[in-house]
Amino acid sequence: MYDYDLLVVGSANADLVIGVERRPAAGETVLGSDLAVHPGGKGANQAVAAARLGARTALLARVGDDAHGRLLLDSLRAAGADPAGVLAGGAPTGVALITVDPSGDNSIVVSPGANGRLTPDDVRAAAPLIGSARVVSAQLEIPLESVVEAVRHLAPGSRFVLNPSPPRPLPQELLDACDPLIVNEHEAKVILGEDGAGDAPEDWARALLARGPRSVVVTLGGEGALVASAQGVSRVPSVRVDAVDTTGAGDAFTAALAWRLGAGASLPEAAAYAARVGAAAVTRRGAQESYPTAAEVDALGP
Ligand code: ADP
Repeated sequence: MYDYDLLVVGSANADLVIGVERRPAAGETVLGSDLAVHPGGKGANQAVAAARLGARTALLARVGDDAHGRLLLDSLRAAGADPAGVLAGGAPTGVALITVDPSGDNSIVVSPGANGRLTPDDVRAAAPLIGSARVVSAQLEIPLESVVEAVRHLAPGSRFVLNPSPPRPLPQELLDACDPLIVNEHEAKVILGEDGAGDAPEDWARALLARGPRSVVVTLGGEGALVASAQGVSRVPSVRVDAVDTTGAGDAFTAALAWRLGAGASLPEAAAYAARVGAAAVTRRGAQESYPTAAEVDALGP
């Protein structure tokens, strides 16, 4: 009945990375390593992660009519994701300019570019694509009103998953559509505001649940995650691995969770699977390059 297990509505960026001995101060020029260009952006990351696991996946996004846009399309195709919903033109492809020093600290400048031009009209025109997905997943690296538009075209019986990153206060219509809302500590605190946060992740999960979502997941990095719904709040232990690079782990976690929920898993089951996917992703460098296949996830345990 559904053409896609997962449709991701979101961003696609080229990550331009230069290693430096020291990040430059104002007015200063420093020499760095050779430039590395990686496909990234939370939307494209999620689509690649799900497709590599074996989900029938599509991406609704906007890139520029340029070399970075073609790099992103190539990466989607290589993972097995359908790029038919990726619009091209209107602005250069979104770029993250990243300098990273030997201690791993970085400075990042993001130019949203074409991501900022994915308009509600674009989303409305893609209504048939949205209506053909069992699960639709979004983040906030595209205009908020375009994400809100997407939830208006969900197929009956389908499910909407939101990772509100970068975080900002959310309209009620969006909160009410989330099943689940997936946040890390920082995102939870921004959405709840200064007063509403409490001290423990359990407090954040309950407070977020009271705002409207049918379920909430709080990711806790190496500490695993926490799931909350009308059935209660429970911990999902993390999988012990030697973490090398956590870039993009949250995107892999979200994509895996969304896919397993669509396949009929309960929220705790889907989160346990997603924790294995996140753990596998931190054992390798990079974002999309680090994402595991289903066989690699299974090798990490039941
Ligand atoms: P975000 O990047 O959005 O802050 P997290 O860092 O919480 O997301 O990572 C998402 C998920 O990936 C975690 O819930 C966990 O399951 C897994 N993960 C992240 N870091 C580690 C780690 N060091 N060891 C094992 N699993 C990890």
